[in-house]
Amino acid sequence: MFENCISCNKCLKDCEFLKKYGNPSDIHKIISNGDLEKRVAYECSLCGLCNAVCPKGIDIKSYFLNLRRDVFKSDSKMVLKKFKSLLSYEKNSGSDIFKFYHIPQNANKLFFLGCAFTGKPPAMVLNVYKYLESKVGAIGIAIDCCYKISHDLGNVDKFEKKMFEKINIFKNHGIVEIITVCPSCTRVLRNYTEIEVNTIYKYLSDKSSTFDQSVTLHDPCVLRGDSQTQDLVRGILSNNGITITSTKYNRDKTLCCGEGGGVRFYNRELSDSWKKKHMEYANNTIATYCYGCKSFLKNKKVDVHHILDILFNDFSKINFFTFWKNRWKLKRELKRLAK
Ligand code: SF4
Ligand code: SF4
Repeated sequence: MFENCISCNKCLKDCEFLKKYGNPSDIHKIISNGDLEKRVAYECSLCGLCNAVCPKGIDIKSYFLNLRRDVFKSDSKMVLKKFKSLLSYEKNSGSDIFKFYHIPQNANKLFFLGCAFTGKPPAMVLNVYKYLESKVGAIGIAIDCCYKISHDLGNVDKFEKKMFEKINIFKNHGIVEIITVCPSCTRVLRNYTEIEVNTIYKYLSDKSSTFDQSVTLHDPCVLRGDSQTQDLVRGILSNNGITITSTKYNRDKTLCCGEGGGVRFYNRELSDSWKKKHMEYANNTIATYCYGCKSFLKNKKVDVHHILDILFNDFSKINFFTFWKNRWKLKRELKRLAK
């Protein structure tokens, strides 16, 4: 896989993980010699920055994902233990308590809410749904987990089983377009279904906002390569008179916020070092379009807002309890509306 590597170390320059161990070709050699365990791959955020800068087009990210898959096959116990709390979040999110689908007969589009967004106040989520409906007409709604956590931890069987269940639902309802909020759902659904998947920003180009601060825009690493969404988000902010400060880490060169690949459950220090890197340039308010990045980058010095919060004017503070309570209330509200 690394026969084309020219050891230019471009991939290493901005990666906190590779800086620690060396370029991927060297890591591969050390692992092959038995001097480093494959489980080191759980320190890689799977953010894909290396792929974006490698002049030889080497798919470094997939190398580390495949290592994770190997480790899961041989030592799933270690992975399940290390990432227990992250997996418990996924389990709850995909459980019957929180999961919900309502697809009217005349709808062939589906608003796939994912997990994090459903922890917002139900009134706000319903506002977004109604707005979307006003733009696209009849549309179903789904609260479900995309199981990217299992995917990234290397648990192929579980991920495929859950994806297969979803694909069946989409097929049975003749869904032709899925509209997403969450970058992870977007990536997973694009990679594993044949259905057209668009981020919600496609339908928010004329949404107005009274927000009046300038922002440093953080592009989520999961949507690296999605120039359509990157442009849409910039257009929406600009149309609202919001000044965007650019840093060198933007669009396809964006950095991981520190949450990627669940690294913080394996090596907290490494995960924090990504976050620290962001704080070096973030000198005003950060705007992003991933709720994971939003909660991860939040700190005492810098405000972090999600684009949807800016557009739908909801800056309510969410803690662990309100998050799960909101999710439960949202499902109850949607069930009521579906009757
Ligand atoms: S995917 Fe991200 S964290 Fe992993 S090696 Fe590449 S740049 Fe580093
Ligand atoms: S950027 Fe590509 S060619 Fe350069 S060291 Fe990294 S893997 Fe090798």
